[in-house]
Amino acid sequence: MTQQSGCIFCRIVAGEIPGDIVYRDAEIAAFRDIHPLAPIHILIVPTQHIASLNEVPEGQQSLLGRLVFVARRLAEKEKAASGYRVVINTGREGGQVVPHLHLHLLAGRRLDDELG
Ligand code: 5GP
Ligand code: ZN
Repeated sequence: MTQQSGCIFCRIVAGEIPGDIVYRDAEIAAFRDIHPLAPIHILIVPTQHIASLNEVPEGQQSLLGRLVFVARRLAEKEKAASGYRVVINTGREGGQVVPHLHLHLLAGRRLDDELG
């Protein structure tokens, strides 16, 4: 597993700082967002450090499918499969603050009012 020192999500994945981990396998981990924007707000991340969607290597496209599928499985597990949103903020202008690729899974409230 490739980690980047100082990366907060690498440190959560490694167990160096606490995170409310809800899913883990060799490639993917998921934990609850510390500042939830919805009753269900889970971050799904690759366990290896990839800075953003733009840095996913050509040969690792299948990882993106797996990340989205884990989001679906978690929506089902959280009893939110009837309505949820998956978001990937990319780059500062795209709203990305933490430079480790992550999918936001948002659910538990109406989400048809805005994109955030
Ligand atoms: P971004 O804006 O980069 O797409 O989203 C980063 C998300 O990470 C934000 O929703 C923020 O609340 C969350 N976050 C930042 N630091 C931590 C942390 O230390 N632990 C957890 N669980 N979430 C964090
Ligand atoms: Zn990282």
